[in-house]
Amino acid sequence: MQDDLNVPAWLPPLRLALQRVGPGPLRWLFCAFVGLVCVAVSQLLVSLMGQGDRLSAAVIAAVCGLGLAALFSASLLGLLSHLDRALRYSVRYATRDSLTGLYSRRHFLHQVEREWSLARRYETPCALVLIDIDHFKRINEAYSSRCGDLLLREVAGVCGETLRHADVLARYGGEEFMLFLPHTDPLGALDVAERIRERVERMGYGWNGHSIPTSVSIGVAVLKLNHTGLDDLLNEAGEALHLAKADGRNCVRAGPGLLPDSLSAIRG
Ligand code: GH3
Ligand code: MG
Ligand code: MG
Repeated sequence: MQDDLNVPAWLPPLRLALQRVGPGPLRWLFCAFVGLVCVAVSQLLVSLMGQGDRLSAAVIAAVCGLGLAALFSASLLGLLSHLDRALRYSVRYATRDSLTGLYSRRHFLHQVEREWSLARRYETPCALVLIDIDHFKRINEAYSSRCGDLLLREVAGVCGETLRHADVLARYGGEEFMLFLPHTDPLGALDVAERIRERVERMGYGWNGHSIPTSVSIGVAVLKLNHTGLDDLLNEAGEALHLAKADGRNCVRAGPGLLPDSLSAIRG
């Protein structure tokens, strides 16, 4: 983390001083330091030049002050750009999964909770698609967990290939991905899910010269009028995924009553 952020060398001692002395006293110390340096340098230069008039001393003190101001403003700008990098870094790591670069589960739930409430209030359709890699444990065991990690990245890339701007894709658990589709009716959601399933099946992942057949099972759930919270939607997507696993994997299954009842319910 330190390397990525490229912390300026002077920042840790400054931070330590700030902690020990406190911001108020440190500011006065800083002003006194700048004043003393200006006076000392101007006196020194006046003595060296052999001219003791006030004008020379004032000009030298002003130049000295300007020089110090330039030095400190450069440090301040360095500090601001460091803070900016640190902020972007922490936002990224608070919201993204480090392996796949997709949203984390926590951020996904935060985003989707809001989207779900809007869809519920305005009675617009929306859907959840839960994607789970089939027999992923076997792949890890047969070819190493590094191979599994890279496969996770590939599948994440495939899942994200055809998404719209408003769709939210996350790594939901170990080898599970969750996709939220706002303004999407059941047929649209099933279509997206089927496209993802086909693309993963065709992606042709290889490791050390071995071709590793990969497939995903997918559960789809849509918002219904009897849902009281996002959990209802999540549970239905989970149930649909279990159905897909029970039906032999590498397939898409819908949550209970997805078609055609919920269609008419949601569209009113
Ligand atoms: P199923 O078809 O029923 O989903 O079987 P599965 O083997 O995919 O599912 P299971 O839950 O039995 O195993 C999931 C495995 O995913 C176990 C765990 O070690 C592995 N896993 C979870 N997170 C990671 C990860 O970040 N990297 C790697 N390489 N493996 C992971
Ligand atoms: Mg799983
Ligand atoms: Mg699995």
